[in-house]
Amino acid sequence: MEVLLRVENVRKSFVVGRSLLGGKQQLLQAVRGVSFCLHRGETLGLVGESGCGKTTLARTVLQLVRPDSGRVHLGDSPDLCTLSARQLRPYRRRMQIIFQDPYSSLNPRMTIASIVAEPLIIHRLCPRSEVQERVKQLLAEVGLSPRAVNRFPHEFSGGQRQRIGIARALAVGPEIIVADEPVSALDVSIRSQIINLLQHLQEQHRISFLFVSHDLSVVAHMSHRVAVMYLGEFVEVAPTSKLFSEPLHPYTQALLAAVPRPDPKRRGAKIVLTGDVPSPVNPPRGCSFHPRCPRCFAPCREVAPRMLEVTRDHFVACHLWDPSMGGATENK
Ligand code: SF4
Repeated sequence: MEVLLRVENVRKSFVVGRSLLGGKQQLLQAVRGVSFCLHRGETLGLVGESGCGKTTLARTVLQLVRPDSGRVHLGDSPDLCTLSARQLRPYRRRMQIIFQDPYSSLNPRMTIASIVAEPLIIHRLCPRSEVQERVKQLLAEVGLSPRAVNRFPHEFSGGQRQRIGIARALAVGPEIIVADEPVSALDVSIRSQIINLLQHLQEQHRISFLFVSHDLSVVAHMSHRVAVMYLGEFVEVAPTSKLFSEPLHPYTQALLAAVPRPDPKRRGAKIVLTGDVPSPVNPPRGCSFHPRCPRCFAPCREVAPRMLEVTRDHFVACHLWDPSMGGATENK
């Protein structure tokens, strides 16, 4: 499969304060050396608890937030992190974002026609005389009546507003869409409609999605592969069916164990996480999950685990799976 996006060892920190008397700055390490690739027409789900760095990583990929270090390549592009705002412009058109909150992401003073037409005009994608017709086509494609063009965002429901956001993203013909919790603000009954729409658009246009969510059932339905993130790092990456049937990392196992099951007779091993998520300002030494890990053993407190391919396309960063650290597959 064609690799469309390559992200290599991306890091991003934010200054969160200085100690009194002008002492050392405190750095919140939001993303700590993440690498992955995204294939054409693929959906990569990104899961993890709130504050684990999912959204920062997604915005870093789009260069909405500039990383401190690392490389991002779109196809055979130069490293996007080294380009100026002007040089980035043609690449921005190829990567779009759908936001979590469909209301605050739309300008309340603009009509739907203006919102969807804006990217067409900015990127000069069609003659002015054809913009209105193209807007109507885009609205129809996302399931909205073309007669709605002169209405304002507040006149629509949450699901309809998210469809407008999708139409705006589609307007520039993107190859990648970053969907940042696109259905978490919607009613349950509407979520499946939006997810089906995204899947339909993916089939039609071979769009790749980076799908950020904390809802594992949505991610399982939507994604071809899933990456699990903890304290700014990837801890497990696998095809969706493998990750959900054979999770290898104790954190992934705990996340899956926390998903309610509708069948009370189907009981899996319960792993209950204890303690709070450590501060990203001062992540623990060794494995960052060790203060909460029920399988923690001696090397975990000292040495950071490396990402290993344990079975085909199934990667995990955990000493339990690293023979050189005394772990072995029977630790499963
Ligand atoms: Fe747990 Fe150790 Fe694996 Fe970290 S490396 S997840 S602490 S067993």
